[in-house]
Formats: sequence, structure tokens, C-alpha cells
Amino acid sequence: MSVRRDRLDAVVVGGGVVGTTTALLLADSGLQVALVEASAPPRWQADRPDLRVYAFAPDNMALLDRVGVWASVAEARAQPYRRMRIWDAAGGGELRFDADAMGRRELGWIVEHGLLADRLTAALATSGVRTLCPARVEALAQDESGVRLQLEDGRSVEAGIAIAADGPDSTVRALAGFDVERHDYAQRGIVAYVHTARPHHETAWQRFLPGGPLAFLPCADGVLGAAAGQASSIVWTVPAPESERLMALDGAAFDAELTRAFDARLGEVRSLSPRVAFPLRRQLVEEYVRGRVLVVGDAAHVVHPLAGQGVNLGLRDAAGLADSLRAAREVRADWTSPDRLARWARGRRSDNTIAAHAFDAINRVFSNDRLSATLLRGPLLGVAGRLPPVTRALWRRAAGG
Ligand SMILES: Cc1cc2nc3c(=O)[nH]c(=O)nc-3n(C[C@H](O)[C@H](O)[C@H](O)COP(=O)(O)OP(=O)(O)OC[C@H]3O[C@@H](n4cnc5c(N)ncnc54)[C@H](O)[C@@H]3O)c2cc1C
Repeated sequence: MSVRRDRLDAVVVGGGVVGTTTALLLADSGLQVALVEASAPPRWQADRPDLRVYAFAPDNMALLDRVGVWASVAEARAQPYRRMRIWDAAGGGELRFDADAMGRRELGWIVEHGLLADRLTAALATSGVRTLCPARVEALAQDESGVRLQLEDGRSVEAGIAIAADGPDSTVRALAGFDVERHDYAQRGIVAYVHTARPHHETAWQRFLPGGPLAFLPCADGVLGAAAGQASSIVWTVPAPESERLMALDGAAFDAELTRAFDARLGEVRSLSPRVAFPLRRQLVEEYVRGRVLVVGDAAHVVHPLAGQGVNLGLRDAAGLADSLRAAREVRADWTSPDRLARWARGRRSDNTIAAHAFDAINRVFSNDRLSATLLRGPLLGVAGRLPPVTRALWRRAAGG
């Protein structure tokens, strides 16, 4: 492959939350960057909330602020959560996190995917990022100095580095020959908006049931016409066959089962939206760099949603890359040298693998009704909940601190 003079510094493939943030961060550091995205996100509409919501950790709120989108997201709709309550259906203690006890105003924010995608896409217009959309990558060639991407429409892009941010079924990852370890949880995550008879008190709730965890995430006032404090977004993890049964129920029957499954902690629950079920899997790449191709976000790691960390981990891949670039600049070194890329990759692989396996272990211990697991988890939550240093350490880890 010959190296062209008009070659870009980096090309990011995939304009989801992780890819767009990566492109914005690199462009902000003065690099020449292109972003290739298959289809632009639809414009966000306040009266049509996105069923996929994220629980954002404070470090990632700061990152979104750094790329200039947080103020506009917060102004449109972001719900802070100041407390978390985690308990087990089989009894035992309750794990409690309180912003006050951590010396913070909030523990994080609940934000709709569609709103964030909309604001990130808008930010591209003034960022200097060359956006190719709609466009799909169909072939990739690389040598020791750069990468050439062939697009389906006949165009091609050359860059010093290619970053695969094209999601869990990444084409770029496959074209570059990355190995992936996969595990099917045989569970589905049912998501929907609901109204609760009692207010959420800016609290993220999670109840562990034998089939999987059930989370209620507090939503901003007025979502789908709900009164102040009474809208929540649910993620209900259930075994695949159980998901088929729940998805087939009519509204009233589903609401009754959901109220029961949540132990009526917030009173009667009523659906505000249709429900959608996502298959759940764990997927980890063996390595994060192959030559001059990097993987980030869900292209690198898909984790169980029980801790709401998927997009948070991906944004930390992007932040780590921007930090590595800045560190290289400070000593006038090449940020794309194999050593530096390997250092970034080691850090992210370790963080993401620990997180994925920790969520796995929690899912295994809590999502079954074997006696041994049942005996273990109540006291586990109780002990952790009674030890402030343990709860603080757990929270710091989730918050990226
Ligand atoms: C039920 C459920 C609940 C979840 N809840 C949470 C939560 O509370 N908090 C959290 O942090 N995470 C959560 N997640 C995980 C989160 O959705 C993902 O981690 C996140 O969307 C990954 O973002 P990404 O940008 O890496 O990938 P994606 O969002 O998949 O974006 C990939 C982009 O690449 C584009 N693309 C694909 N192929 C090509 C190609 N060949 N050429 C060009 N473009 C291409 C796509 O169009 C897309 O825009 C949840 C997931 C599930 C299933």
C-alpha cells in the first residue's frame, strides 16, 4: 500500500456515542480526523423518548462536557440520580449508595441514547471532523505506516490509524482479524418506560430475582406525560423463554407482573411505552490493537447491562486514547508508536475485562435460585452495605474514579 500525502491522522468507523466522542476528542487535539457512519441518527424529539437510556458516571459527564455537548444534553433532559438501592428477592441486606455520604451532589445522570446521539452528531458540524455518512466500510488494508479503508460507495479513506467503533458486530474488527471471545447469557433485557404510583426520589433501584436483575432508573419530569418524579425506565433481565412469555402479555398483565417482580417498592407500575427485548451477551476482543487498527466501545467489549456500564466503559476507551495522545505530545513523541498504543491497550483491556467478569460473577451468583447462591448473596449485600469504605470503593470504581 502506498502512503498518500493527503492521508488523515485517524479515521473512526462508527458514529455511535463512543465513535463520535472519540472523533471529537481527537479533532479537538488538532488531528485531521474522518468519521465513517452507516446511517445518521434520527433527530431527537422530546415527546418520543428513546427506549435505550444510559446511567452516566461523573467522569463521563465531564468527558461529554469536554467535547462541548453536556450543557445542551442537560438542558434538554437529563435526570440526576442521588441514591442507589440494591437488594435481593431472597432477603438479606440492602446495598445503599448516597451522594451525600460520598460528598457529591449526585451519583450520575440518566440520559437517553437518542438525545445524546443527536447532540454529538450536531457537534461534528463545527469540529473539523470530516464526516462520511451514510457510508459503510467493505475492505481494509494496512501496512506499518497506515490504513486504507474501502467504502461500499467506491470512495476510500487513508489514515495513520483506524479506530473501530462500529458496535458489537464490528465489520472493521473482522476485516482486521481481531479474535473475539463470546458468551451468550441466554437472557434478554426488557426495556420500557413506566409510571410508578410513588415517586422515584432520584434513586436508581435494582432488585435481584432468580431470573436476573430488575432495574428502575429515574427519569426526568414530564417524560411521556408522567407527573414529577413518577417516570422510570426499566431494564428487566430474564431468561430467554421467560422473555417470550412476558413480551406476549397484554399491558395490564405485564404491569401486574412487573409490579410484583419489583415488590411494589414504588407502588403500582403502569407501562408508558411499548417494550423491547434485547439479547444479552458478553463479548471481549483478545487484543485492542492490531498493527494500526484499534478497537473501542462495543466493538471491543459487550458487557452485561446489570451495572449500566456498557457505554461508560466505551467512553473511557476514548478518554484513555485522548490522554495517551496528550502525553505523547508533551514529550514530542509519536502517539501512534507501537509502545504507546500497547500501553493504552493494556490499560483498557485490564479495566474492561475486570468489569465484564465482575458483572458476570454478580449475574451468576444473583441470577439463580440454587441454595448455595441464595445463602451467599443476602449476607453479601448486607455486609457490603454496612461497611462505608466498601460502598465508597464500589462506587468509586463504577464512577471511573
Ligand atoms: C438492554 C440494554 C441496556 C443497556 N443499558 C446501558 C446503560 O444503562 N448504561 C450503559 O452505559 N450502557 C448500557 N447498554 C450498553 C450500550 O447500549 C452500549 O454499550 C453502547 O451503545 C455502545 O456504544 P458504541 O458507540 O460502542 O456502539 P453502537 O451504539 O453499537 O454504535 C455503532 C455505530 O457504528 C455504526 N456502524 C456499524 N457498522 C458499520 C460499518 N460497517 N460502517 C460504518 N458504520 C457502521 C452503526 O450505525 C452505529 O451508529 C445497554 C445495552 C443493552 C442491550
